[in-house]
This record gives sequence, structure tokens and C-alpha cells, in this order.
Amino acid sequence: MTNSSRDIKTTGIVLKKNKFRETSVIFNLFSLELGRISVIAKGVRKNKSKYIGLIDILNEVELELYKNPESNLYLFKSGRLLNNYTYGNSYRKQVLLSAAAELYNKLSFPDDEVGQMYQLLKNYLVFMQQVNKNGIAIFWRFLLRIFKIMGINLEPNVCIKCGEIGNKMVAFSVHSSGFICQNCYRQSQADFVVGISAKTAEILAILPNIGNYLNQIEISDKIIKELNNIFLLHLSEHFHQNFRLKSLEML
Ligand SMILES: [Zn+2]
Repeated sequence: MTNSSRDIKTTGIVLKKNKFRETSVIFNLFSLELGRISVIAKGVRKNKSKYIGLIDILNEVELELYKNPESNLYLFKSGRLLNNYTYGNSYRKQVLLSAAAELYNKLSFPDDEVGQMYQLLKNYLVFMQQVNKNGIAIFWRFLLRIFKIMGINLEPNVCIKCGEIGNKMVAFSVHSSGFICQNCYRQSQADFVVGISAKTAEILAILPNIGNYLNQIEISDKIIKELNNIFLLHLSEHFHQNFRLKSLEML
């Protein structure tokens, strides 16, 4: 079957898909071997297509592709489903899963980080299956791990000014990429800082080990807004553009 040198076999997770013409689909795949690629799958929306439903967001698939040398698009030849991570989940969990796909569709990172990033995404999708409460905190932990791989590490319980661990945080400095404790914070600070409420500070303090606290804490919508805003500001600062995740706005 794979006798042409342009045939490629790859494993990947579908990040985004758009209908194309009457029966086709163009989708973005986070490929373990190739990083993020765009693929056109002709005819897969036909009722009699055996691949109907294969190309769905966050499906992990094994595909045979063909690379047209004159185009950036890969051509879908055949494939099979390895894992589906979205089936049977609540609306809220679907949103948190979709946010990961949206994020990976937007991030750019070097080829040598693809393997690590792939494993991280997979771990997140698997772990989320058994989370019933405060899934957003697992998404934040996932973000912190991404930041680390990408070299834009954010330590939620280390003060960026004094370096002390475990002090109560009162603000986030966008330019310094870190949190500021109550001992170091001055009202007159010229730096662009975002204030943090006491409740949010409590969540930040336990975020690195949040898995141990998931069923004991309450995370209000206000805390969710504050922390989503901070993490998106951090990404915006790093990528020099306004970084939005539409999925998170649906929470
Ligand atoms: Zn400090």
C-alpha cells in the first residue's frame, strides 16, 4: 500500500477541522512525527465513506498521508481511530478539552519539543477522563507544564521579586512574568501588574499539587476569570499578540 516515497504514516491528534466543499474536510493534525500539519481528506463526509467520524476534534488517529511536493497540504489516504477522548463527557469538560485543542492549534514551538508536547497533551486528555470537579485547575496545571517546556516558566508559588516560596501572592507582573508577594508589592510599582484576590492567591499556592486538592476546594467564576486572564496575558506577552482562547469564554 505504501509503495510511493511520498506516502507517510503518522500518529496524531486532530486539533481543528473545517468542512471543505460538498463532502471533504480540511483539518489540522498535531502529528507526533511532523508537528502541526494541515490535511485535506476528500470525500470523508459522504454517507457511505468508511472514514465518517474518524476526523473529529481530539481524536487520536493513525493515518496514511500523501505529501504533495507543491503544497503545504497533506492528502489523507486512509486511517484508523486509536483513541477518542471527548465521547460521553459533560459540556464543561468538553469545553476544557476543546481549550487544549485550540491552544495547540495556536502555539508555535520548535520541532525538538513536539514529542514532549504530544505526550503532555495526551496525558491531559487521559487524566481529564476521571476528573469530576474543578477540571479548570487541571487545565491550569497543564498550562504551567506547557510554559515550562516552552521556556516561559511561571512559578505560581515563588515570588518573582524576593524568590521566597509560599508567601501570599497579591499581584502578577506581566513584564517580569511572575507573581509578586505581599512583602514585595508596592502600590507605586511602575511595572504592568494585575491584582490578585485573596481567594485566587489560595488556589495559586496549591496549583503545583492541585491533583491532591481537587475534590476539597471550590473555584468560583471570579477566580476562573482572574487566573485565565493572567495565563493568557503571559502567553500574549510571550507571543507578542493578543492571545485568546474562545473555548474558555464558553465556561
Ligand atoms: Zn516577594
